[in-house]
Amino acid sequence: MVLILDGKKVQHEAQIRLKQVIREKKEQGFSKPCLAIIQIGNNKESEFYIVNKKKFAESIGAHVLHIHLPEEISEEEVLKEINNVNSDDSVHGIILQLPLPKQLSKELLLESINPSKDVDGLHSANIKGLWINDKNSIMPATIRGIISILEHYNIPIEGKNVVVIGRSTLVGKPTAIAMLNKNATVTVCHSGTVNIEYITLEADIIISAVGRPRFITASHVKPHQTIIDVGTTVEEIPTKRLAGDVSFEEVSNIVGAISPVPGGVGPMTVTSLFENLVDAYLRKLVI
Ligand code: NAP
Repeated sequence: MVLILDGKKVQHEAQIRLKQVIREKKEQGFSKPCLAIIQIGNNKESEFYIVNKKKFAESIGAHVLHIHLPEEISEEEVLKEINNVNSDDSVHGIILQLPLPKQLSKELLLESINPSKDVDGLHSANIKGLWINDKNSIMPATIRGIISILEHYNIPIEGKNVVVIGRSTLVGKPTAIAMLNKNATVTVCHSGTVNIEYITLEADIIISAVGRPRFITASHVKPHQTIIDVGTTVEEIPTKRLAGDVSFEEVSNIVGAISPVPGGVGPMTVTSLFENLVDAYLRKLVI
């Protein structure tokens, strides 16, 4: 029978762990960890993600400083806000909620976040840390979430053939590097890859980050494989729902383990963001 990689369950366990750490620090007289969320404009999906982050923060006893800026704001003004939280010692983590309005440069603004507070792990200093396998750098939250769910279910990575589908800067490439760091043999597929099925059929673990519902079907998989579905696409028809990249019903009848959408990588990304926050907070207490 297929093993469902239940991100909600793993999240719940992490929640208890993080709550305990924060409670202990509070008893020792320290303030709560604080995450600054910078939101620009009123993107509906961003609002949904921010509500989720606030709920999670509340559940573990962390504080969220929600800085909501207008859609038409200039880059200079956003930089000023980022500098404020960079220099505020009561703020331990900063995230810039993406996507941004088009007049703003994502690269420039992400680079202006203090790398030690970059709990999304998207600053070039942290990306370099991933490249050189520096354990002190902050790993992108989604990637940490993927590793945590595999580790939670004791699915070995070392020595395995891992196929990552997607090569974006946000997900595909850092996932591939993280898997290399874990001693997997990694193949990366993209829109120019010919006959993806031949490649996925050789995999022990398939990690799909494409953003196309029903992209991975029965013909891509074989028994005993592990499937991590990172894709999240909002489908409107027949009813509004979140779809992964994998045709869950057919694929789950064949493989050994699979992460569902929703309820797989999504909750793990939020969890890992707060694990990154609590790590940044603890590092600050030690300094
Ligand atoms: P993206 O920037 O659009 O990248 C998609 C990747 O898929 C690209 O590298 C693209 O290849 C590849 N691709 C597209 N069509 C393909 C095809 N026919 N065959 C093979 N590869 C193909 O998206 P992203 O930011 O990486 O995100 C990917 C998905 O993950 C999205 O659904 C996103 O919403 C989701 N996501 C989920 C979480 C979470 O927490 N669950 C976090 C982040 C992202 P090319 O490079 O050749 O164009």
